[in-house]
Amino acid sequence: MSKPTIVILGAGLGGSVAAFEIKHAVGAAAEVTVVSQGDTFHFVPSNPWVAIGWRERKAIEVKLGPVLARRGVGLNTAGARRVVPSENRIELNDGQSLAYDYLVIATGPDLAFDEIPGLGPFGGHTQSICHVDHAEKAAQAFEAFVQAPGPIVVGAVQGASCFGPAYEFAMILNAELRKRKIRDRVPMTFVTSEPYIGHLGLDGVGDTKGILESEMRDRDIKWITNAKVSSVDPGVIHIEEVGEDGQTRARHDLPFAYSMMLPAFRGVEAVRGIEGLTNPRGFIVVDKNQRNPAFPNVFALGVCVAIAPTGKTAVPVGVPKTGFMIESMVTAVAQNLKDILAGRPAVHEASWNAICLADFGDGGVAFFAQPQIPPRNVNWASEGKWVHLAKVAFEKYFLNKIRRGESEPFYEKFALDLMGARKLKA
Ligand SMILES: Cc1cc2nc3c(=O)[nH]c(=O)nc-3n(C[C@H](O)[C@H](O)[C@H](O)COP(=O)(O)OP(=O)(O)OC[C@H]3O[C@@H](n4cnc5c(N)ncnc54)[C@H](O)[C@@H]3O)c2cc1C
Repeated sequence: MSKPTIVILGAGLGGSVAAFEIKHAVGAAAEVTVVSQGDTFHFVPSNPWVAIGWRERKAIEVKLGPVLARRGVGLNTAGARRVVPSENRIELNDGQSLAYDYLVIATGPDLAFDEIPGLGPFGGHTQSICHVDHAEKAAQAFEAFVQAPGPIVVGAVQGASCFGPAYEFAMILNAELRKRKIRDRVPMTFVTSEPYIGHLGLDGVGDTKGILESEMRDRDIKWITNAKVSSVDPGVIHIEEVGEDGQTRARHDLPFAYSMMLPAFRGVEAVRGIEGLTNPRGFIVVDKNQRNPAFPNVFALGVCVAIAPTGKTAVPVGVPKTGFMIESMVTAVAQNLKDILAGRPAVHEASWNAICLADFGDGGVAFFAQPQIPPRNVNWASEGKWVHLAKVAFEKYFLNKIRRGESEPFYEKFALDLMGARKLKA
């Protein structure tokens, strides 16, 4: 009798780790195959460094084929054109159809640049750090910028959910400009849909409001919150500032010589609009066991999962899905698949806690929210030079984990060690 087949769709941060952990959990009880777009893993959290020339693209890439093969996991690099959950199969971009018994969707975000005229690096006027291709383009644009410095606008648009990297990028731009001794020629503005600095899509964590405002003041970075980007023209970004009542409070036409704005995310085309599988934005609907209620043999993890916002805000903001939270989803899915294959019910739940290290080049801010929606059991934020060093260590550790195909969860131990170490020093 042939073994059940588990297909993991997407080989980013969540899908790659899931491949190792699921195979480790189910062993010989199932065939495991990854369907990816191309054979290369990119470590997304290092993109801001690529965008400023602090990392080469090659340093944050891993060829997945040999690693997955060593762990007994198959790889199909054709990419999915459409998931057909009613028929338990995926239509691939090469015209083939791939059947599955269980599907784990880990397709990350589709970047909704097209929702704002003039936004984005391809066909628009702003840079992005969401993909390593964008980060490389942003690095070229930055080198051109330093020849003729002018104002910088950095931030995240309405509907964005990933704010940490926007703060990171503003701060590391500042560090690099100071290093090049041209910071005095560059007025900087941070533009964000968050209701206040440090909200982060989480209604703040610890005193992220106070800490981040202070860090921005220290670096002469001005800010506009509750901001909706109406459109972007070459060299000018048009912003509507909204009051708490949702009414327009002011309009700003900010000139820029360089701009990086994070877009809103939505689900990828291969899954968007499938009745029962996705919400209206194309994110995968899951229950507390990471399982889709309409198609119970389909699981999802990572940025592609639908999570409700923490509360109402004047301008829409989403909830970030950070590596720690994603890893907890991976573990829940792996353990649930193991149990299902052994004839037991799927009862494992992900913790969905949020931990993030935001590097500022010359320091940084770390936070840990447990659970992500306040009031919390752990509501911890801290700052200092150690965060930069911790982020570099985290990058090395994570890339080694992927290169070796290790299945042990990493973030949990890292977070606990980190906070333990900080507590000892306090
Ligand atoms: C710039 C940036 C910096 C970040 N920094 C941090 C950080 O420091 N710490 C942290 O905890 N979190 C960070 N995050 C948040 C989060 O950890 C990352 O976004 C992470 O990459 C999300 O993992 P994922 O697997 O859900 O999606 P991704 O890593 O984006 O992976 C999705 C994968 O699915 C593939 N895919 C999509 N569609 C298809 C298809 N049709 N067929 C096949 N494959 C498909 C994509 O090619 C991609 O490889 C950051 C996010 C961004 C954007």
